[in-house]
Amino acid sequence: GTKVVWFRKDLRLNDHTALAKAIDNAGDNDSLLLIYQIHPALIENFTPRHDYYFQTLCSFVESCEELGTPLHFLYGEPEEAFNDLLKTEEVEEVYFNYDETGFGKRRDDLIIQWMENRGIGVFPAIDHHIHSAREVNKKEGGHYKVFSPYFKQWQQLDKPKPRKIDHEKLKRLVIDRENDFVTGRKRYEHLVGKCQGKWGGTGEKDALDRLQWFLEGAIYDYDEDRDFPAVDGTSLMSRYLRTGAISPRTVYSKVMEETDGRKQQKGIETYVQELAWRDFYNMIYYFYPDADDLEMVQKYRGLSWNEDEELFRAWKQGRTGFPLIDAAMRQLNETGWMHNRLRMAVASFLTKDLLMDWRLGERYFSEQLVDYDPASNIGGWQWAASTGTDPVPYFRVFNPTTQGERFDPHGRFIKEWVPELKDVPKKYIHEPGKMSDSDQWESSCVVGEDYPEPVVDHKTMRKRAIEMFKKET
Ligand code: FAD
Repeated sequence: GTKVVWFRKDLRLNDHTALAKAIDNAGDNDSLLLIYQIHPALIENFTPRHDYYFQTLCSFVESCEELGTPLHFLYGEPEEAFNDLLKTEEVEEVYFNYDETGFGKRRDDLIIQWMENRGIGVFPAIDHHIHSAREVNKKEGGHYKVFSPYFKQWQQLDKPKPRKIDHEKLKRLVIDRENDFVTGRKRYEHLVGKCQGKWGGTGEKDALDRLQWFLEGAIYDYDEDRDFPAVDGTSLMSRYLRTGAISPRTVYSKVMEETDGRKQQKGIETYVQELAWRDFYNMIYYFYPDADDLEMVQKYRGLSWNEDEELFRAWKQGRTGFPLIDAAMRQLNETGWMHNRLRMAVASFLTKDLLMDWRLGERYFSEQLVDYDPASNIGGWQWAASTGTDPVPYFRVFNPTTQGERFDPHGRFIKEWVPELKDVPKKYIHEPGKMSDSDQWESSCVVGEDYPEPVVDHKTMRKRAIEMFKKET
């Protein structure tokens, strides 16, 4: 019989739990088939996120070919796709890295049942996090809701080591069935043809190169630099963790190896804490499976958010008249990534300054972010909207102008992304509306013409936001 390894958001050939298990369990006479299933919904709804993902898949296909272990494509809903496979292949066992939350979990739970009903051995592995959803528990039982005690406990646990993959054995076991998968291959090529290829690094090699760069220097200043969007001071691992081009175990263990002896250093501590936030939000989503659509805090489920197409459009396009917010949204629209400080600022702006539903923002991010991860994104949005389990308090509303003054003091980031403001003097870069007529003329930025007036008054909206929450508290 054939053992199948089904790849999904784990597009790599190293430190891969399901692949390691399949190889370990295989005898010399077994064969291994590497599979990717293309979901039909993709063909209709191909967003920038998918664009980036398919480019990563492309890099992965190349890596597989280089090693001589080809990846094969199925097409259709999972049951349909595997039904097709069963027509030509005697499948004995299927290995994959199990999704603990969201759409992935629903898909996996169904397909496990489906396979078991057909007598196929299913091996779902836990792989996507340093500590999975049910590993970090309170001493008295139950799960954490607040990050800092969670993190204390997280630090206490032994960290899993990267999984070694025996590539030589893999090469001996893998079979090539190219001719049986022509339809799937065509679908794959069709989708790859749609990719625009403008999002930067993809795949395992780029992930390792960037991590190496980060560990050679930037990590030691991470605790300070990570707040300044004009500085290239973060690891940019999120896209690689999302597509699985690198595993979180590898990231963690490389951090520990490379920085050996300097563990108390603040930059490293802060970085490790960020990796733990990723685990934390996965755990939260596991225990709040409705959080994609419902406020985690019950009493906030009836908040009456604004509905205003025009304001929402201004936010999406980066035309709100608040320079930092606009620069951030344009960075997202152009590059598929946004700095963490800015994600907090724009999410706060949408929910507290425009009083608009966080779900709208969450969904927009889900289309645009190359690193879109439902657990972290929902976690981040409910944090900003003050509706999560460990959120920013509703009475501490970010001021979009002072955020700019603090975190982009010279306006370097703003000028990079909002070219209309590039000649505005530093003094006015966060409030271009304060320029005199002649200043506006001189800097070729007439507010209201070249660059929008602020779409709302922050002070007024701040008050309204606080009142809206107070009513429910
Ligand atoms: P670094 O600063 O180098 O951090 C290292 C890694 O730690 C990241 O790659 C990420 O895996 C993890 N991490 C860091 N901060 C967080 C955090 N707050 N929550 C969870 N994990 C974190 N991150 C995503 O990966 N996908 C998302 O869809 C996403 N949506 C977000 C939405 C909002 C509203 C907010 C406020 C944050 C969101 N984040 C999301 C978290 C964070 O902004 C990104 O992980 C980070 O900006 C990615 O850049 P980096 O890899 O250079 O991060």
